[in-house]
Amino acid sequence: MEILVVGTGAREHALARTLSLDPAVTRVHAAPGNPGIAQRATLHAVDPLDGAAVADLARSLGVGLVVVGPEAPLVAGVADAVRAAGIPVFGPSAQAARLEGSKAFAKEVMAAAGVPTAAARVATTLDEVAAALDEFGAPHVVKEDGLAAGKGVVVTDDRDAALAHAGACLAKEGGRVVVEEYLDGPEVSLFVLCDGTDVVPLVPAQDFKRALDGDQGANTGGMGAYSPLPWAPEGLVDEVVETVARPTVAEMARRGTPFIGVLYCGLALTSRGVRVVEFNARFGDPETQVVLARLASPLAGVLLAAAQGRLAQVEPLHWRADAAVTVVVASHGYPGQVRTGDPITGLDAAGTVPGVHVLHAGTAVRTTEDDPENPLNDPLLVSDGGRVLSVVGVGETLAAARRAAYVAVDQVNLAGSHHRTDIALAVSEGTEVQA
Ligand code: AMP
Repeated sequence: MEILVVGTGAREHALARTLSLDPAVTRVHAAPGNPGIAQRATLHAVDPLDGAAVADLARSLGVGLVVVGPEAPLVAGVADAVRAAGIPVFGPSAQAARLEGSKAFAKEVMAAAGVPTAAARVATTLDEVAAALDEFGAPHVVKEDGLAAGKGVVVTDDRDAALAHAGACLAKEGGRVVVEEYLDGPEVSLFVLCDGTDVVPLVPAQDFKRALDGDQGANTGGMGAYSPLPWAPEGLVDEVVETVARPTVAEMARRGTPFIGVLYCGLALTSRGVRVVEFNARFGDPETQVVLARLASPLAGVLLAAAQGRLAQVEPLHWRADAAVTVVVASHGYPGQVRTGDPITGLDAAGTVPGVHVLHAGTAVRTTEDDPENPLNDPLLVSDGGRVLSVVGVGETLAAARRAAYVAVDQVNLAGSHHRTDIALAVSEGTEVQA
């Protein structure tokens, strides 16, 4: 089988890599992919947001499965276009992707399905926001309703700051915000594969959202992740499957918008039990990098089974006992004003560190510019986005996995880049404290 992966990030590189290691997969294609994905897949310069173009490409390549990585194409209906062309697609319809695209919609579905989550109010005026802030008390949580690439959420003790964020969101056309109760406790990401009816959970991971060590600095798309979570309570996955994933999938089916793809359950393990912080409608980045690094079963068959409504017939997935840690190398300025175009070197050395593989996110190959330091115009790998690389270390323990990842990160040269030095540090020292 040939497979088309839609997207450009390190998550898509992880997907392309894992699919290319599956003996049932003869060839992986990517639209549009990136220079790292090009080592595993054939790239096609197709706009990932253009459903008709992606469906045409899939048809002309004769692929047996399309896997859509990021949220934007899903919300834009790319999976619908591919499905309408009669090609199996792993990814929800635009309607079903609203579980991620609208926090208000997700709350409505969770309420109807009886899924445990933070109490919340949807507000369209500042008066409503103020009333909800007072109802729930501090810390205040205010979320922009639409897709905001992880930047729409403010958690603060400062009521004025909460109101100001709400005001900025409400000022946008059709602006709505969700004000909700604060959830304490550590966060867990669990990806659940769904075929519209049945579900298959992957293994839990934890990501690090803040830019700086010690969970300081701005929120980002994610600066690193690890799996497994030795501190997670036994039975967590089964509990989430039964109390979150199955009821949500059943509710989506009842509404006539079956959910096919990854239901990403962002969870808080609060003092009052497990609560859903958010749903996403796709694999998370960077958690996918560590989850897939631990997958021992072939990936293509199970994604195809999900796309075709056959998950009930799939063999249980097998997982390596190994641990995985990924460290994100980010551009100068990320997550603010990002500088791009800086040369990247040292990836060969990084990739030869035992247990390590390097995944590309925002990279590009520059061949056209005259560069006095590169008179022969050799193709030069340069930074081309905020998050540039995901360096993945796999080892027998979390400590070994993180050591490998950081040895490799030290081999990478990218002017002005930054990365966190404390990914999976507390947990690998056994000092992880549950809040
Ligand atoms: P979201 O985009 O909904 O995942 O929110 C981004 C981040 O904000 C989450 O990963 C949490 O760290 C934090 N957050 C969101 N909702 C809450 C909440 N109700 N209580 C505490 N923190 C939250």
